[in-house]
Amino acid sequence: MQKTLVMKFGGTSVGSADALKIAAQIIRDSKKDWGRVVVVTSAMSGVTDLLLDSAASASHGKIDSLTQTESALRARHFSAADSLIKNENLREKTKQEINALILSLVNLCKAITVLGEASPRAMDAVASLGERMCIHLLAAAASDAGIKTQDIETTEFVVTNSHFQNAHPDFKTTTEKTREKLIPLLDAGIVPVTTGFIGATLEGVVTTLGRGGSDYSAAIIGSVLPADEVWIWTDVDGVMTADPRLVPSAQTLPEINYNEIAELAYYGAKVLHPKTIRPVLEAGIGLRICNTFNPSHPGTRLTANGKSNGKPVNGRVVKAVTAIRKQRLITIEGRGMLGVPGVAARAFGAVASTGTSVPLITQASSEQSICFAVPAEMTQTILSALEKTFAAEITDQDIDRVWATDDISIITVVGAGMRHTPGVSGRVFSQLGNHGVNVLAIAQGSSEVSISLVVDAADTENAVKALHELIIEGYRLKVEG
Ligand code: ADP
Ligand code: ASP
Ligand code: MG
Repeated sequence: MQKTLVMKFGGTSVGSADALKIAAQIIRDSKKDWGRVVVVTSAMSGVTDLLLDSAASASHGKIDSLTQTESALRARHFSAADSLIKNENLREKTKQEINALILSLVNLCKAITVLGEASPRAMDAVASLGERMCIHLLAAAASDAGIKTQDIETTEFVVTNSHFQNAHPDFKTTTEKTREKLIPLLDAGIVPVTTGFIGATLEGVVTTLGRGGSDYSAAIIGSVLPADEVWIWTDVDGVMTADPRLVPSAQTLPEINYNEIAELAYYGAKVLHPKTIRPVLEAGIGLRICNTFNPSHPGTRLTANGKSNGKPVNGRVVKAVTAIRKQRLITIEGRGMLGVPGVAARAFGAVASTGTSVPLITQASSEQSICFAVPAEMTQTILSALEKTFAAEITDQDIDRVWATDDISIITVVGAGMRHTPGVSGRVFSQLGNHGVNVLAIAQGSSEVSISLVVDAADTENAVKALHELIIEGYRLKVEG
């Protein structure tokens, strides 16, 4: 029986005619090696942002720039089609399919202008267009490279709830539908080229899985088929010791385990969407992250959680450092909180009611304050919700104040070896201290695979670079005894 590979191409990997050409070659080569290949694609880089900006402008009554957006989208996709698809009929058909989607953008934006608002449902209809345009291009480019392909929207088989902009798949129905749609194609030797990022409700209304969600789409499809492996093709040589855009000396990690990548992804390493990990881990599917622009590089392989535990790989206890920017710390403080049950529950209930999730929590042991991070843009909404929830306690002065810092960043160091290595936090703090970085708060995950530190926004780069030095030195603490 032939093995099945699901491959996802990110925005840069399909962002130009040259990139699409390489992607088509990768598809052709993988088809030879694997026999059964499913392709998942993102929108061309920058397209989702452009689409969402148009919808946002339309909601403010501004549609002057729509013609410009329309031509930009046409130029981008058509020039790629012209240079990639030699077969004239196929080229024209592809351009017509793309054009129809561009026209639907215009109609959607006009409707949004009339309504004067863009509902999450309308935003998803608009955001979905990038991936929907791209499948036609990539399928045609691969077909021109000699592969039998079929472009197919995941709206036909990834079934989600109606939580627009952050929809959750119904795995049971998705499993049935995905197998029904994709297996006959695979049996016929056809490579399905499908949309990342999007799904649809049972009623067929388009949803999206959240920004950067194409990785998750690949994991969903891979886990329900099931595939043997999922490969994420991106624009760097795999998962690295830090974001190479911030730290040019960052190195590729040949291996990383699921716990480690989960922490890295959750704490801001954009290279993999955090939701990608669970479906592949649970289905026991291999995951690899590799570079479209350097396809012979092995990239990063995910390994079972137990494998490197306790034994620092290549002498590295801390393997990678990452940062989430544009956060603020909210503190609720007051001597009257001491021993009062339920303060934390009510506080997080108030935050949850604003639809915000909290990436980091610290609590002073005295129970006189609770402190947590939230995305900066949600600060005012959350402060209002908290003031409302604790109105009585504030009046009675049991709570003295609820306040927020200026912008901060959460810096996280990750490595499974830290669990068995004493003194890691000491080294981390001295390194930051030596570089003049003040730590405002700390949190350590219960898995002990990561330590997160809160620093002032202005210190972000300095902190990441300082901690990266520790990693590169291959610093090793002698395990005592
Ligand atoms: P794609 O469009 O292929 O999904 P993304 O831009 O979403 O690509 O993710 C890839 C980017 O993630 C890289 O270009 C890199 O700048 C960034 N990145 C952040 N942290 C890391 C890391 N630890 N390792 C590799 N890349 C990282
Ligand atoms: N195109 C979507 C985005 O920009 C999804 C993705 O690229 O993964 O968020
Ligand atoms: Mg991405």
